[in-house]
Amino acid sequence: MRLVLVPTPIGNLEDITLRALRTLKEAEVVACEDTRRTGLLLRHYGIATPTLRLDQHTVHRARELLAPYAYVAYATDAGTPGISDPGAELVRMALEWGWKVEALPGPTALIPALVASGLPTHRFTFEGFLPKGGKERRERLWALAREGRTAVLYESPHRLRKTLEDLREVYGPEHPVAIARELTKVHEEVFRGTLEEALAHFLEPRGEFVLVLAPKEAPLPEGEEVLQALRAKGLKGKALFQALLE
Ligand code: SAM
Repeated sequence: MRLVLVPTPIGNLEDITLRALRTLKEAEVVACEDTRRTGLLLRHYGIATPTLRLDQHTVHRARELLAPYAYVAYATDAGTPGISDPGAELVRMALEWGWKVEALPGPTALIPALVASGLPTHRFTFEGFLPKGGKERRERLWALAREGRTAVLYESPHRLRKTLEDLREVYGPEHPVAIARELTKVHEEVFRGTLEEALAHFLEPRGEFVLVLAPKEAPLPEGEEVLQALRAKGLKGKALFQALLE
């Protein structure tokens, strides 16, 4: 079985490579998250390959659903399959089953957001979507700030303000951030400012967002003081880490 991951536009339909179009045309079937959405793209380019739904709820049945085919193209709703979408799970399973997996280079939201941010690009960390809440979310936020690299996050419009508020708490209100909204679409916008300014700017967020945070210089001086105080109390190792997160 040959499985080719095909990146598709994140807005502007012109953002697709010639190789991606040829693959979509030559494959026996295009497996995709949403047959309507991918169908629009295929029709736009006059491609008649049949589609088959393979989303987060059905991806675990990929082996059975794709069994009749020898050459499958896989596309997600937008961007590169495998980046914050069911593509990663499909690749993991496909490799286990001994399928030949190929990934085409192409559009993804994180790279244009990072590059347009004006923040350092030579070392960055991609966080995707943060956990929705609880200890896991807190841990990830603090770990991110400690990394000392530019950080790229995905967020949905209805959670954007909550995430900006949490980031303000960890990074501080004056910390620089760039927020790319609706990349490659009519209402494309790249906001550049502080976390406090971002909260004042995005009062009723709409559209799709990528957040790019500047690296934290001299990471967490206040954290360092807390650390010293906890060490002075005799806390070490795992217990020290736990106490830091509380
Ligand atoms: N696989 C995709 C990629 O390669 O970027 C990401 C899929 S993930 C389910 C969807 C998220 O990507 C959105 O919530 C948003 O954070 C980001 N995104 C996708 N398209 C975007 C766009 N045109 N502008 C800004 N962010 C976008």
